[in-house]
Amino acid sequence: MRLDQFVANSTTLSRKDAKRAIAAGRVRVNDKPCKQARQHISARDSVQLDHQPVAMPEELYLMMNKPAGVISATTDSNQATALDLLPVELAARVHIAGRLDKDTTGLLLLTSDGQWSHQITSPRRDCPKTYRVSLAEPLGDSARKQLEEGVLLKGEDTPTKPARVVQHADTLLDLTIHEGRYHQVKRMLAAVGNRVTALHRQKIGLVTLDERLSPGEFRPLTADEIQAFN
Ligand code: URA
Repeated sequence: MRLDQFVANSTTLSRKDAKRAIAAGRVRVNDKPCKQARQHISARDSVQLDHQPVAMPEELYLMMNKPAGVISATTDSNQATALDLLPVELAARVHIAGRLDKDTTGLLLLTSDGQWSHQITSPRRDCPKTYRVSLAEPLGDSARKQLEEGVLLKGEDTPTKPARVVQHADTLLDLTIHEGRYHQVKRMLAAVGNRVTALHRQKIGLVTLDERLSPGEFRPLTADEIQAFN
């Protein structure tokens, strides 16, 4: 993390004031004055502001109920992003752990902790994700079996990993997948001749979307929810 970001995240100073304090020589790194706002700071460095120790900022872990119509990108000059729904000081620190399509709603995890998000997004971790899927056509037994066993997506040559299907009605199911291929759920349903009309992510690993969150709202994760990925 850059020194100015470190100071701003750990004190009441804004990023601009942190830069000023650094330029004014008020900040010391490992007992030496440091006027480089861009200096990289790691957990092993000790930082002081006006001779007072500055603690490493705590990592941020949030869940959001993503509304339809916002994209899961960090910044986009033309379109609203999920980060635009956070206060700017939080948005500046987090990234999205597992994107959703613009029209998909539901559980989005956001964090400042890159190692933690890697547990969720790394293909080698097999992290399960559960989606509530609404369909244009009824899902028959054969299509359900194909989804459970693995289907070949258009343009790909390896089938999807086995998925879990819980059918609630002809056109409504919960689908749990262990991968994160591009538009995976929509393409899986297309591969069995159907079409997704609405998609909502309910769960990632052991973390379930908090039903008290209205679309666009967010809350910090609990300690148990954070631990669920360690
Ligand atoms: N699969 C999709 O097709 N879209 C999403 O947003 C998430 C999973």
